[in-house]
Parts: sequence; C-alpha cells; structure tokens
Amino acid sequence: MKRQVLVVGAGPGGSTAAFYLAKLGVDVLLVDKETWPRDKVCGGVYLPTLEPMFEEMGCLEEMRSYTACNIKYMRLIDADEDTLDFDVQPFMIMPRRFGDDCIRRSAVRAGADFMENYEATSLIMRKGVVKGVHGLYHNEPMDIEADCVVIADGAHSELSRQLGAFMEDPELVMYAFRAYFDGVEGMTPNMAEEYYIPAGMPRKAYSPICTTWVNPHYDGKKAVVGATIPEYALRDTGMTLEGFYEWWRDNTKFGRERLGHAKLIDKFRGWRLPGSKKLAQSVYPGAILIGDAIAAAECAFEYGIPSAMVGGQIAANVLKKCADNNDFSFEALNEYQPLAEAALNPGLAFNGMFRDVLLSKEDRMKDYYKWVKAQPEYPHMYFDGAAIKYMQNVMGLKFDVSENTVSQ
Ligand SMILES: Cc1cc2nc3c(=O)[nH]c(=O)nc-3n(C[C@H](O)[C@H](O)[C@H](O)COP(=O)(O)OP(=O)(O)OC[C@H]3O[C@@H](n4cnc5c(N)ncnc54)[C@H](O)[C@@H]3O)c2cc1C
Repeated sequence: MKRQVLVVGAGPGGSTAAFYLAKLGVDVLLVDKETWPRDKVCGGVYLPTLEPMFEEMGCLEEMRSYTACNIKYMRLIDADEDTLDFDVQPFMIMPRRFGDDCIRRSAVRAGADFMENYEATSLIMRKGVVKGVHGLYHNEPMDIEADCVVIADGAHSELSRQLGAFMEDPELVMYAFRAYFDGVEGMTPNMAEEYYIPAGMPRKAYSPICTTWVNPHYDGKKAVVGATIPEYALRDTGMTLEGFYEWWRDNTKFGRERLGHAKLIDKFRGWRLPGSKKLAQSVYPGAILIGDAIAAAECAFEYGIPSAMVGGQIAANVLKKCADNNDFSFEALNEYQPLAEAALNPGLAFNGMFRDVLLSKEDRMKDYYKWVKAQPEYPHMYFDGAAIKYMQNVMGLKFDVSENTVSQ
C-alpha cells in the first residue's frame, strides 16, 4: 500500500495532523496500534489555548459534554502544607479516551482514512530515507509506504529511537502514575491541587519538582489523582513511585484528608514521560516527528497535548505545500523545524525556567508565597501572570524565551 502521508499514532498530535491534512485535501492514512477509543495515562487537562482548534475541528461542544470538571482555580500546596490559590483560564478535564477520540473522529470526518489495530514495528529505510513502515495489522505483517511518515507514536516511540531522534535529558524524564478515586474529602469545587512534597520526606534528596496532584472529577467526591517524580530522584533516593505517593498519602495532612478514606475506582497506571525545554531536531529525510515522540511535553507541569497538536497542525501545513509541489525532499520537509520552534519553544522555555528558578527552590517558593499573598488582588491573581510578574519584578530576571535564557 502506498499513501501520500502516513501518520503513525492517533493521539492528539497524530489526529490533529491527519485532520488538517485531510482538510487541506492531502491524501492521508492515520494508523494506531490500539482499538479505539483508547485510554492514556494523563491528568486529562485540555488547556484553553486548544479550544479554537477544537472549534475548527467541530468537536468543541462534544468535548464540553464529556468534561468531568471545568477547572477555574488552582491551588499550590508547598512542603509545609501552606496553600496558595490562583485563578486560571478555565480548562476542561476529562478522561483521554473521550477527548482524544473526539479529535480522532474529527480527522475521520474531515476525510482522513483511519486504521486501528495497526502497529508500526519499524521504519522502511532506503538510502537513509524513511519510505514507510513495516507493521502488523491484527498481528498479520503489512507494510505501508508513503511520501512522508509523520511519527506521532508517543513517549515510548520505537520509530523515533530507530531514527536516533529521541531526545532524553535525564533531568527532564518524569515517572508518573494516574488513578481515579471516589470518596475524596475536602476538595474545593472547580479547583485543581498541586502538592510540592519534599520537606519531611525520609530521604531529602528531592526537589519540589516531585508533585502529587488531585483534580476533581464529575462530582464533589471523585478525583483523578497522580504523582510525578523525576527519574534522577528515584535513582538518587532508591525510592519507588508508589513509595513516594504512599508517603505523601500517609504523612501529610492533605494526603490523609483527601485519600485516607477514598476508594480506588480504577487501576493505578504508570508512565514514563521525557519532557523538554527546547524542541529537538524533528525532521529527518522522509519523516517529521511530533508530540511525545520527540519529547515535546513541557517539563514543569507535563502538559504535552498542546505541543503535540500545534506540531500536528504545522506539519500538515508544511506537507500540504510538499504535496502541491510534489516535493517531499528533506529541505522541503525541514520547513517544519523553524516554524515549530517559533511556535513551541517560548512555552517550553518558559516552563523550564519556571521549574528551575522557582518550583525547584524551596526557599524561593516560600518567598513567592509571601509575595503573592501580599498582593492586593490575591487570591484572584492568574497563575501564569503571577509567576511572570514575580520572576521579573522581584527576582529581576529577564527572559529571552526564544533563546531559552534567563539573566539577571
Ligand atoms: C501522568 C501524566 C499526566 C499528564 N497530564 C497531562 C495533562 O493533564 N495535559 C496535557 O496536556 N498533557 C498531559 N500529559 C502529557 C500528555 O499525555 C502527552 O504529552 C500527550 O499525550 C502527547 O500526545 P501524542 O499525540 O504525542 O502522544 P500519545 O497521546 O501518547 O499518542 C500516541 C499514540 O500512538 C499510538 N502508538 C504508539 N506506538 C504505536 C505504534 N508502534 N504503531 C501505531 N500506533 C502506535 C498509541 O496507541 C497512541 O494512541 C501527561 C502525561 C503523564 C504521563
């Protein structure tokens, strides 16, 4: 089988690429190894910046109908269990099997062909150029050739590793789990909670980058709960992800209150997520990599759906031009790189700085708490705006997000 564009992976990145390709009239086949709808380990936050795209896809209303909770506020809880509340631009939270399927079906409605249960096992390479994929369809071998392969198969991408494209900065690899609970006590309606843990932990080699989060889900007592911890912290302390979470649950006031009597209503599911502060080279002869397949999730809060979707949209625009000119050369595909860097690097860089100069410094966080609480508008400050104002006005930092630098 030969197609113009083959998109491997129907997560938010791949389905967005397929949607825009089909809308622009490019021949596209989207494949995924799972039977859909499929779930994904995630907090399920679809940030509000994505809503214009959902509207264009014709799925915004349907996504709203699946929304488990509209988050309007966010609470940071520090090592001493002091709280800091913010307003946020309202965002939707829902299980990924709903949200991602809305995006995938938009691609199909726009005219993309979709094949589930197709697992790409390796790239077809000729003279250093990607020409398609070898794979298994319902476990039977099937090759698919294409003028370009969009690799969107997520954080555990074998194709990306085969190309040598996968970037893993050990500082930015997070281990995480997610689980659903009922009977969670004490949550505030429409408020997401992020706990920065370390103060009393048995081995204090941690930085506050280790978080537990509790996000309300569907009603006042259900929540999606997760924990993330950097790989180096697990390695340095010998702790397990479960151990970290259990310590938080049993040894903190909030942990005991929220989860002391809660009932697990789904399995714990774990994941390994490399993030980044800067987009890696994402174009190779015959292929463009997007989303988690090129580690494009930001490293402070692990939001990766926006990077994947924006990357998918840019890839589709570049590929439309390639199709019109019948030119899928590396030079033509590589138009993607500067466009994607311009769109994604500022956000990735800002989150990297936020993590490095604020979230990961316990003393700094304390000062930040004091400063925020002293502002006349508190508790109605916007989360991002407050952080930017503090880092610029109080810390005297100057950001050059395009260069990913911070200076005094
Ligand atoms: C615990 C946790 C919480 C998170 N919370 C959030 C959040 O709240 N909001 C947010 O924006 N981001 C969050 N993220 C990050 C987010 O999940 C990812 O960045 C996002 O899913 C990336 O989208 P993607 O399309 O690149 O990959 P994915 O969503 O992983 O999709 C990849 C697809 O490829 C398919 N696939 C894989 N291998 C193959 C193969 N060989 N052949 C065919 N198909 C294949 C998979 O079945 C999958 O459907 C979280 C991550 C973790 C680990």
